[in-house]
Amino acid sequence: MARVTRQKRHIEQTIANFRFLFDAETLHSEVSKSDKRTGIATIYRFLKNMVAEGKLHAYQCNRQTIYSASTVSHCHFTCENCKEVRHIQLKKLDFLQSEIKGGICHFQIDVTGICEKCKKETK
Ligand SMILES: [Zn+2]
Ligand SMILES: [Zn+2]
Ligand SMILES: [Zn+2]
Repeated sequence: MARVTRQKRHIEQTIANFRFLFDAETLHSEVSKSDKRTGIATIYRFLKNMVAEGKLHAYQCNRQTIYSASTVSHCHFTCENCKEVRHIQLKKLDFLQSEIKGGICHFQIDVTGICEKCKKETK
């Protein structure tokens, strides 16, 4: 197998192991564990192609692009008080489906509020 093909396979397999959202750096460090020769530029190029081919879904998270292999949603919660960020997984899309008559591929929601910890402290 050609090196480029082997490298591509390896990146694909690494992505398949991610259950949730990941960014380019995380993927790069994960790939580097077994292949030190794969540079970050290769990772970015690979991700861009995968998104163009519809194999990956891209989201914006804190001005950074994050990805997922499945159409898991990006539900981003930021606490206004402590700035903690949490990602929530929404399984039911009923509320969106009634608004969008076509088909939903993936979506992202940005929620701002007060986290549980901060809420307790201000009581
Ligand atoms: Zn998508
Ligand atoms: Zn996020
Ligand atoms: Zn908080």
